[in-house]
Amino acid sequence: MNEKCLFCKIINGDIPSAKVYEDEYVYAFRDINPQAPVHILVVPKAHIGSAAEVNAENSVYVAKCYEAIAKIAAAEGLDNGYRVINNCGEDGGQSVMHLHFHLIGGMKLSEKII
Ligand code: AMP
Ligand code: ZN
Repeated sequence: MNEKCLFCKIINGDIPSAKVYEDEYVYAFRDINPQAPVHILVVPKAHIGSAAEVNAENSVYVAKCYEAIAKIAAAEGLDNGYRVINNCGEDGGQSVMHLHFHLIGGMKLSEKII
């Protein structure tokens, strides 16, 4: 728990969120500014600042996030596919410095960066 971190406060229940999934490692909730019919943030319960801070000690949280993504996508009916986005650091457009994965779907996603 990082006292100044927005997502740590959400995980801790200090700030309300629209929770869609939770387990020992992962908390997931609807993005407050959705970019598609389904836009969920999948967040590790440990405070990891960004993808740049993933290492051998904490990478289990990344694996658990992706396990959760598969479950949430199925529960949300995203049978035809979806996109997972991670913005890392300033150049990557990250605005909340707690590692998170955007799970986006429910429509045909046209814009491709790569
Ligand atoms: P990023 O720009 O990749 O760091 O993504 C941060 C995301 O957090 C943005 O899509 C915001 O809309 C979302 N966000 C910020 N504050 C909240 C909040 N209180 N509840 C839900 N989503 C939020
Ligand atoms: Zn945090």
